[in-house]
Amino acid sequence: MVGRFAPSPSGRIHLGNILCCLLAWLSARQQEGQVVLRIEDLDTARCPRRYARQMEEDLRWLGLDWDRGPTVGGPDGPYYQSERTALYQAALEKLRGLGLVYPCFCTRAELHAASAPHREDGQVVYAGTCRALTAAQAAEKRRLTGREPALRLRVPDEEMAFTDGHMGLYRENLARNCGDFLLRRSDGMFAYQLAVVVDDAAMGVTEVVRGADLLDSTPRQLLLYRLLGLPAPSFFHFPLLLSADGRRLSKRDAAAGLDVLRDRCTPEEVLGRLAYLAGFNPSAAPKSARALLADFAWDKVPQADIRIPDGLF
Ligand code: GLU
Repeated sequence: MVGRFAPSPSGRIHLGNILCCLLAWLSARQQEGQVVLRIEDLDTARCPRRYARQMEEDLRWLGLDWDRGPTVGGPDGPYYQSERTALYQAALEKLRGLGLVYPCFCTRAELHAASAPHREDGQVVYAGTCRALTAAQAAEKRRLTGREPALRLRVPDEEMAFTDGHMGLYRENLARNCGDFLLRRSDGMFAYQLAVVVDDAAMGVTEVVRGADLLDSTPRQLLLYRLLGLPAPSFFHFPLLLSADGRRLSKRDAAAGLDVLRDRCTPEEVLGRLAYLAGFNPSAAPKSARALLADFAWDKVPQADIRIPDGLF
């Protein structure tokens, strides 16, 4: 059994990231599994190394440990996605070999046109504008625009269904709800969807624990597992933490950031209160990660988003 933390450190970690690491850690350690730490820094401008280093230090302070990762090493590194692009390129070539990859020249403005269909979460459904370009038409477009194209995956018109370990049955027809999705952006950056699948498979991850905001990414990832012939892990999506007034936590919620919390609280206070909010600590009493191993169970965790009451931290 192998679990993982896969943060994208674009600042100091906050309660949402900590809950993610705590749940992934508890679930893995209860099963006597291993934990991998992988830094998802595909966007190197947003995720400079110093944030990743600070995050490792913060996780250690919290008492959450891992067996393979950036500073501890391991057989399936490197553990920074920015150093793994050869693997993503190889996966892309494999998909290309299946005839499922095509160049897309649409600009941001074209993609986000008011007439474009939108998903429930506000994302645009790709209309398939460049899907049927012939090689000659694509070459002509490239010449006219003078830009490298993005690369998209042709998705099937079929329902993808899976059972999430916490949220239950989830299904989506990618052709209708999402459209052909990006594998590589026009600036050469590989897409999260491709990188996360390649890495979880290469690192032998058997269980993915992450926030419910990624539930609807899972059908795309399951399609990639299938096309690349890789075994898919099981998935557990947990509810999001919201501020007291019901907004998603962000950098503006200073009190939720570990920079502020470390001055105010002990690690046991942070974890005990978080575990209380997440349903598996009977009170907000301080508790270490190890002590929480005895209390944690997925069926105690709610499915609905969780508000952090004012003054709890
Ligand atoms: N790196 C992603 C994030 O921090 C998480 C990816 C995942 O868990 O699949 O939002």
